[in-house]
Amino acid sequence: MSADTADGDGSEEAVADEETAADDAAADTYTVAVDRDACDGVFACLVRDDRFREDDDGLAGFDPETADALERSEASVQATFTDDRLEDARAAAAACPFDAITVETQ
Ligand code: SF4
Repeated sequence: MSADTADGDGSEEAVADEETAADDAAADTYTVAVDRDACDGVFACLVRDDRFREDDDGLAGFDPETADALERSEASVQATFTDDRLEDARAAAAACPFDAITVETQ
């Protein structure tokens, strides 16, 4: 028979709205780039994010089926994603011992 609920002050609703906004923000568009001059093929990235893969030359690239777009040059490979895996990409970037991975949100 407790009457001590949060009825009427709206504070719990405000918290719920913030959580909904955070969920909506989970699907981001972002780019992940590998500097192929810096990459040394250690593949700490692949352990953190399985969208990375070993390209023909032994350096890091991306599984093309996971990306919205993929651009590759001699100097870099860049993938664009729209999903909720931004933190996986950031974890891969943090794990790279040569700081070869750059993650940018759009
Ligand atoms: S962890 Fe860094 S150096 Fe190693 S393969 Fe991935 S991008 Fe290249």
